[in-house]
Amino acid sequence: MGFESIDDMAIADVVVLNTCVVRQSAEDTATGLIGRLGKKMKGNSDRMIAVMGCMVGPQQTELKRRFPYVDVWARPQEYEPILKTAGLRHGLDLEGCINGVVPQFPNVASFIPIVHGCDKFCTFCIIPYRRGRENSRSTIEIVHEAEMLVARGVKDITLLGQNVDSYGHDLQPRVDLADLLEEVHEIDGLERLRFLTSHPNDMSVRILEAVRDLPKVCETINLPFQAGDDTVLANMRRGYTSGQYLDKIELTKKTIPDVHLTTDLIVGFSGETETQFGHSLDILRAVEFEKVHTSEYSYREGTFASRKMNDDIERAVKKARKTTVEELQNEIQAKNNAKLVGQTYTVLVEGRKRGRLHGRNRGDKLIYLSVPDGLGVPKAGETVSVEITGSSPWSLESELSQVQSRVKKEKVPVE
Ligand code: SF4
Repeated sequence: MGFESIDDMAIADVVVLNTCVVRQSAEDTATGLIGRLGKKMKGNSDRMIAVMGCMVGPQQTELKRRFPYVDVWARPQEYEPILKTAGLRHGLDLEGCINGVVPQFPNVASFIPIVHGCDKFCTFCIIPYRRGRENSRSTIEIVHEAEMLVARGVKDITLLGQNVDSYGHDLQPRVDLADLLEEVHEIDGLERLRFLTSHPNDMSVRILEAVRDLPKVCETINLPFQAGDDTVLANMRRGYTSGQYLDKIELTKKTIPDVHLTTDLIVGFSGETETQFGHSLDILRAVEFEKVHTSEYSYREGTFASRKMNDDIERAVKKARKTTVEELQNEIQAKNNAKLVGQTYTVLVEGRKRGRLHGRNRGDKLIYLSVPDGLGVPKAGETVSVEITGSSPWSLESELSQVQSRVKKEKVPVE
């Protein structure tokens, strides 16, 4: 539309605030910022404030009452009202702006949301109430967006959904994530394809086989278990027991022998005893995940847990449990990453982080690169061969051995 992005919201014509409300603290930050925006923009009717994202649920009456100066309330992925209002205010033509909203200069590793909302209703989670029931985007639309991203230099695409494995069950004709992986996989120029986040009950054999059989689909699976104790899992209404979860892990490893597993875990959920917490540690020791995203349980108004359960684990206890998980994971990751020293990998260069050249292998490991004299510094988007020279729990050090001229079509060997 001709707008330019600027950093200073105090002088912007259009401010779009994208919100996350998965935690109460995130929602409090967003409401505080909307309040400050209102003061900054007071008396200037030419300027426009739009608030979008998960804060904007199906009912907006209360938000409109609290923040009457917000011009547009847009639900997640609803760009159209923002574009329309901005166009009207500034006399701009919307033609060609509504579809295919992809960044002009995307990162070489980019994300595409494929299914919004969730039907699972875990007791601690606000997502189904705010983002609504599962709503899959059409395969054609997703493939088109992926093609546009690849045409702009993207090599590694992650397909996103709160429950990505349930993609397509609401479409006519019904399709599934494996069908979509096959379609996106065909895009020339795309090198790597991933998906996030899976639910253990919806991770089907067909999806696992697609990961195994499609060369560009990376062997990376995020499978949250959230708790290792069956009573806690039942209180969370996750819909599986720890035994069933471990069976799914077994099946995943059997189908994809070189799989890189990551997970999500909540510590200190309502009523979780030390013994029950110990069962979560047992799962961490048994599976040895590559990475664990650990959250301390926090009260979230509007959830089933907020109405029916007590947030009765002290803050200090939650913190201590999180530290215990992190210490255990550090040990596991340090041990497993140390075994990788001396191995060679294919790395997709992503750019610089704190001044250091870095990229990722198919297993999504963060790898820093040093470049020997005479080889030339690779650019973001180039695929290179490296030898691992050092390790820490969170990343690997490597030395560049070769810049690969072209992408291999066959499956890259085990990493
Ligand atoms: S599956 Fe995930 S997004 Fe859906 S309700 Fe449970 S925690 Fe929330």
